[in-house]
Amino acid sequence: MEIKFEQAKSLKEKPTGALGFGKYYTDYMFVCDWDQGIGWHDARIVPYAPLQFDPASMVLHYAQETFEGLKAYRAKDGRILLFRPEMNARRFANSNIRMSMPTLDEDLFIEFVEAIVKKEQDWIPTNEGESLYIRPFMFATEPAVGVHPSNSYKFMIILSPVGAYYEEGVNPVKIYVEDEFVRATLGGTGFAKCGGNYAGSLAAQVKAEKLGYSQVLWLDGVHRKYVEEVGSMNVMFKIEGKIVTAPCEGTVLPGVTRDSIITLLKSWGYEIIERHLSIDELMEAGHSGKLEEAWGTGTAAVISPIGELYYKGDVVTVHDFMTGELTQKLYDTLTGIQWGNIEDSFGWTR
Ligand code: PMP
Repeated sequence: MEIKFEQAKSLKEKPTGALGFGKYYTDYMFVCDWDQGIGWHDARIVPYAPLQFDPASMVLHYAQETFEGLKAYRAKDGRILLFRPEMNARRFANSNIRMSMPTLDEDLFIEFVEAIVKKEQDWIPTNEGESLYIRPFMFATEPAVGVHPSNSYKFMIILSPVGAYYEEGVNPVKIYVEDEFVRATLGGTGFAKCGGNYAGSLAAQVKAEKLGYSQVLWLDGVHRKYVEEVGSMNVMFKIEGKIVTAPCEGTVLPGVTRDSIITLLKSWGYEIIERHLSIDELMEAGHSGKLEEAWGTGTAAVISPIGELYYKGDVVTVHDFMTGELTQKLYDTLTGIQWGNIEDSFGWTR
């Protein structure tokens, strides 16, 4: 598809110092429109600016919105690397189908991501651990208050240079096991990356933070006892040498990092068990010493070690609140591949 380009009148100063996460946005954004009967049209790269749209736009009322998150990395030899963008393209299509939104052809998704990243390549930071966060998203624009699928949508991509997630190396976090709110349930939207899932998760996050915890561990919505995810990451446990993680059966977001970590672990000879792990079994494994390591996986932090679990007054400390050897090895290997410092034998980067 032809992508039109509108030149900005002036370019922004690039940030110096700590980038943080999602604080700065680049000079341009990608926009493409979809209308019933026409399909996708008017792909364009335009100066980054506020949007103007009708207050009756359906996204503002019924939350028809989906998004993705991936990164562009600058290798030491200057190459720009994307990590498995075809998986984001596929997941985006699945999210859009679930939300009764039009899908974007997976090749077009990648073409659009590559176009805006190429245009903005000077914004890819070069310090250790820094990258360019890519946020594709789609939302309903039909001005119509009344519940039905919108007849018009916008697909956009914005870019944000982000810092190293851990400024002083990988650090374990304290996790609150949420026993009141649930994130997803069977038949719901857990596997989709839609804004509403995150809006609904905030109450638990706020509660956990008030109690001194950095993230929540989500239990399933039916039995209220099986471990699903941690914050906005997938979660894995090393129990007696084997790796246990929740299966992706509709309630868990199928993470790109999750899939990559599973592939790495298998290549190292680990047994991976995708099963429903109850919180009671997990706490028991923690008390008896069978729980050796625990970590979350996601694009933003890559790996986040779990140092403590709190469930209904019971506390388990994992690996003496230190980053486990396997957790660290996974972090080093995956970030090594992503930044092009380790040979990519899986063909993940492009
Ligand atoms: N679960 C949830 C709920 C998430 O929001 C994310 C972040 N996209 C993940 C898991 C991890 O997915 P990924 O590895 O693709 O970033």
